[in-house]
Amino acid sequence: TARIERHLYDVVVIGAGGAGLRAAIEARLAGKRTAIISKSLFGKAHTVMAEGGAAAAMGNVNSRDNWMVHFRDTMRGGKFLNNFRMAELHAKEAPERIWELETYGALFDRTKDGKISQRNFGGHEYPRLAHVGDRTGLELIRTLQQKIVSLQQEDFAETGNYESRIRVFSETTITELLLDDDRVAGAFGYYRESGEFLLLEAPAVILATGGVGRSYKVTSNSWEYTGDGHALALRAGATLINMEFLQFHPTGMVWPPSVKGILVTESVRGDGGVLRNSEGKRFMFDYVPDVFRKQYADTEDEADRWYTDPDNNRRPPELLPRDEVARAINSEVKAGRGTKAGGVLLDVSTRMPAETITKRLPSMYHQFKELADVDITKEAMEVGPTCHYVMGGVEVEPDSTAAMGTVQGLFAAGEVSGGMHGSNRLGGNSLSDLLVFGKRAGEHAAAYAETLVKRPKVSTPDVEAAVATALAPLQRSSGENPYALQQDLQAVMGDLVGIIRREGELTDALKRLQDLKVRVAQVSASGGRRYNPGWHLALDLRNMLIVSECTAKAALEREESRGGHTREDFPQMDPKWRLVNLVCSLGDDGDVHLERKPLPRMRDELIQLFERTELSKYLTDDELSQFDAIEG
Ligand code: FAD
Repeated sequence: TARIERHLYDVVVIGAGGAGLRAAIEARLAGKRTAIISKSLFGKAHTVMAEGGAAAAMGNVNSRDNWMVHFRDTMRGGKFLNNFRMAELHAKEAPERIWELETYGALFDRTKDGKISQRNFGGHEYPRLAHVGDRTGLELIRTLQQKIVSLQQEDFAETGNYESRIRVFSETTITELLLDDDRVAGAFGYYRESGEFLLLEAPAVILATGGVGRSYKVTSNSWEYTGDGHALALRAGATLINMEFLQFHPTGMVWPPSVKGILVTESVRGDGGVLRNSEGKRFMFDYVPDVFRKQYADTEDEADRWYTDPDNNRRPPELLPRDEVARAINSEVKAGRGTKAGGVLLDVSTRMPAETITKRLPSMYHQFKELADVDITKEAMEVGPTCHYVMGGVEVEPDSTAAMGTVQGLFAAGEVSGGMHGSNRLGGNSLSDLLVFGKRAGEHAAAYAETLVKRPKVSTPDVEAAVATALAPLQRSSGENPYALQQDLQAVMGDLVGIIRREGELTDALKRLQDLKVRVAQVSASGGRRYNPGWHLALDLRNMLIVSECTAKAALEREESRGGHTREDFPQMDPKWRLVNLVCSLGDDGDVHLERKPLPRMRDELIQLFERTELSKYLTDDELSQFDAIEG
């Protein structure tokens, strides 16, 4: 039998990005023994890669900003499919979470009068993103880690042991959640370096595992984003929502091929960068959809004036929400107006002095210089859409972040959770999301652990089954190659469940995913358990596969186009579909099941924040008559 290291905790947090760290801090502050698990090195998560900033309506740069404006922008960005309560909590609590970070030691860029500076971003009515140059995520992670170290020092002073209340397990992958009936009892995984197993017994588990981008070839996501948390949730009896909605960021690098997909931050456009096609035309003016026409400039002159006089001019269309810009770039390239490498041009060199570019966008300057040998102060960048963010995720109870479905003791925060961003996330709303809901997850997981009368127990057969599943790829002497399987999966998802979708292709994708499922069950990895990336990928594949199945199934079911889901055969947004969430669960047969569930109805005082003319573009006649009744 395999040796298993065992630990006992009150709260286990899976994931050490912003959501996981913020959750762990809160659980520890509530006095709970807390473990943080990270698949990658501690400090390396998507959060650290975030460039642009964290959205919070502090009103520092434009005093007209407040939570209600932020709430409206978020709902508009998500095309009204957001869970309104999550969007409300997020808009109300984000400023406090940002200020609190400064009490942990963060230092955001400043306005002239010493307030936290805020920058413009797509879909945000006012400058709203608190930032540190274009390295905001780095400061966020650095600060949260610093806070954890300071808590560990407090614990040392009291107990003589730094790790008595909060311990980090880095380069450790969780492969299974263990249950006692329907209650979470622990998490099982392995140390990536040694391949040794570990079992963390805990009554409360917080999923903070981030995204799913590695199921696509062209992606801004790094190697560990294989949808583990989404899959762990499904297998534990929780549900996922909105999985058809994936955000393709409009601007990823397209050249050279080795770096295709790497992100070019939206700050480039927020700070004045413009998009042009190969004919030199600033094409975004041709792609402003009706629902947004009122808020966006229709001439280049007005758009340019907006940067210095936003109160009297409308915003440039380059700053439309990401789904709109990504589709526009896709159309230009398809119409033969793209660059040779299949992108369009994003230019700051003709828009601002070189010193401003290197000061405001230092990482972008270095990224292009080092990876593409392009000097962005002198020439345009070549960019195209890249798979970036998953709006879909664990269906949660908004206030507590507790996972819905049959499982108890499971919580989810950050990118792995669903609902908050509806069909499309606004830039900057993720860093604030993970702070707001990370804190809530930590608080509620601790409270749940506190109220439990009897600690759930891990069962030996479940642990044995987890070990057997983990060892299976190593024990198959011949079988499918994990790298070939990942490539095949990426081809299915990229070609058939990509940025523009069609019924026939989605049906085909589902068939191919079934074939891949059979092959993944036969995956084998040569070598032993000591640092063996082939084995690691073999274990990740089953997660990628069920999560991809959710996306493909939901994409086939939703017969409309909205946010991060575009159906060529149903190009319009359909108010009837706005009322529907598609909920994924895992059947006993191991297949993904899909269910339609009505969206919660927005509270009266929130719906009244919108004008009727705007609502009429999204709501059914029935819903509008309810609005009329409230308004009297
Ligand atoms: P992550 O930061 O992704 O962390 C996930 C953690 O889970 C990692 O520690 C990982 O190792 C761990 N993990 C995963 N699976 C397992 C497992 N099985 N076992 C153990 N651990 C596991 N958003 C903004 O709001 N503003 C921006 O400017 C911005 N810029 C971005 C730039 C880039 C290049 C990228 C990729 C994203 C950007 N985003 C931005 C999005 C944002 O960074 C992410 O959505 C956010 O950081 C997710 O945070 P998280 O805490 O949910 O997860």
